Amino acid sequence: MIRDPKHSDSFRRWRLGARACFVAGVGILLVAWGDADPRTRFGLIAVGAVLIVVVIPLYFHRCNRCPRCRRSFSETPADPDEQVSRLPLFNSVERCPFCGLDLDSAGYL
Ligand SMILES: [Zn+2]
Repeated sequence: MIRDPKHSDSFRRWRLGARACFVAGVGILLVAWGDADPRTRFGLIAVGAVLIVVVIPLYFHRCNRCPRCRRSFSETPADPDEQVSRLPLFNSVERCPFCGLDLDSAGYL
């Protein structure tokens, strides 16, 4: 199988970016939680919430789909043998359950 280096790089970048935004958003919310000043707290909560809200559709559109067959990993039937989690933001998807693309060894992760 010949992989498209550009395609796999962008898939990997989107996943890294989505994870970074999500972690940053949660981190900002946690900081906001401990901030005594109500105005600062409101601002931080707004920034953190926007980050998380933005990253969710981005994630499902760009990162939760097989880069080859474009099917969503969330459609994976619940099967204990499958190596795919339904929301693999922080889990690695080793193999596409639909077309069998080996994401791990093909350099997608
Ligand atoms: Zn696939």
